[in-house]
Amino acid sequence: MNDIVGHFNQLQHLRSLAFSQRLPQTFLFCGPAGIGKRKAADFFAALLVCQRKDEPPCGICSSCKSLQNGSSQDYIVLEPDEKGRIAVGSDNENGTVRWLTHRLTEKSSSGRYIVIIDGLDRISEAGQNILLKTVEEPGKGVVIIQISSSKSRVLPTIISRSMVINFHSLTAEQISKILKTDPEPHSYEDLALIVSGGSVSVTKDLVEKQILPPILDIAGAIRETVINKAVFNENLSDFDAYNGDFGLYDILINMFHYNIKLVIHKKLQYNRYVENFYIDDYVLLQRLIKKLLQLKNDLKFNVNSKYALKAALYELSENI
Ligand SMILES: [Zn+2]
Repeated sequence: MNDIVGHFNQLQHLRSLAFSQRLPQTFLFCGPAGIGKRKAADFFAALLVCQRKDEPPCGICSSCKSLQNGSSQDYIVLEPDEKGRIAVGSDNENGTVRWLTHRLTEKSSSGRYIVIIDGLDRISEAGQNILLKTVEEPGKGVVIIQISSSKSRVLPTIISRSMVINFHSLTAEQISKILKTDPEPHSYEDLALIVSGGSVSVTKDLVEKQILPPILDIAGAIRETVINKAVFNENLSDFDAYNGDFGLYDILINMFHYNIKLVIHKKLQYNRYVENFYIDDYVLLQRLIKKLLQLKNDLKFNVNSKYALKAALYELSENI
């Protein structure tokens, strides 16, 4: 829990709120993507649930334990789906806005609901309007931590009813510390920060313009092609569309570089943010990266990069 880099004042503020008698019920964590807002929210949630009111949380009381092993029914996390959205959905559709608001009308087993909405800006205006009622009157014992990387995409009415905590960009030093100390991504923002090579602006593009999911699909298609010789993979058709302003090759190269790190450190157990493109073969990864670098350098001579890529991947797959 103490592995959050930076944000000293914000964390101090959250600590003092967690132990105060007048705990606000609705929070909005705002700030650029990939700087640790989710980690701060997890930290805050842990402070709130600990029965011993320890700081850092004791980790041994039943509340701490059920939070850690994910068995607590009263700890609810809403995250974007594979399309990068949190859908309006319905009462019965797990993980959607209506499901959450319905759920919070039911009695909690511990007397307290802790809700993390990791991507308030991924909820449509209509969805935020539905959420507004809950934000206005969260009900007894409900604490809602909303996270958004863009304040302009949050309804003003939600902002005005929430305790806003602003998080700021990290320094280059702090970013490199994260990349060294935290090889496993816990959100798309973490992953975006890693594959952008620590660039906050590229990270922002990847997350806010929702470019990361299609790039993950492309990386997945590359993986499929070299491993299963799926030469005519559909997702590779999108390659040219994304091979524009975003330094697609650099991002893919960073992705597979990072994959190498994971293989070396045997770090990966199961991580849903990585599984899409994960290749468990050090030598193949090295050859793949070499190919991608070559293609990137050839780019200016190559009008149709998609076919060049397919040909290169096919060649790789023939030689494993
Ligand atoms: Zn505890």
